Amino acid sequence: MPLYNMKENGSGYKIAKFDDDLNPEEKSVYTVTATECTCPSGHRPTCRHRQMLPEFQATGRVNTRWFLEFDNREWFFLDDRIGLVNEARVRRSWRRL
Ligand SMILES: [Zn+2]
Repeated sequence: MPLYNMKENGSGYKIAKFDDDLNPEEKSVYTVTATECTCPSGHRPTCRHRQMLPEFQATGRVNTRWFLEFDNREWFFLDDRIGLVNEARVRRSWRRL
């Protein structure tokens, strides 16, 4: 399942696609706004990248270690020690603190 993360560098939002091992997929970084996207579906009314942008913004996960698996709408946090952690497990571990 591909994972996506979102970066904002002052000149717009960039969404990148990664495989299960978090290797970035070649040519799969797109500049995205609410209405436009540089992906191959950019000419369509919408695309998955434009749909993901508000999800990253609403959760405050732009420029973070959070990754979204779009198909299942599942979030994963990249932990230095244990790698990707599903959001449900992250929340449980935070509650233990
Ligand atoms: Zn797109």
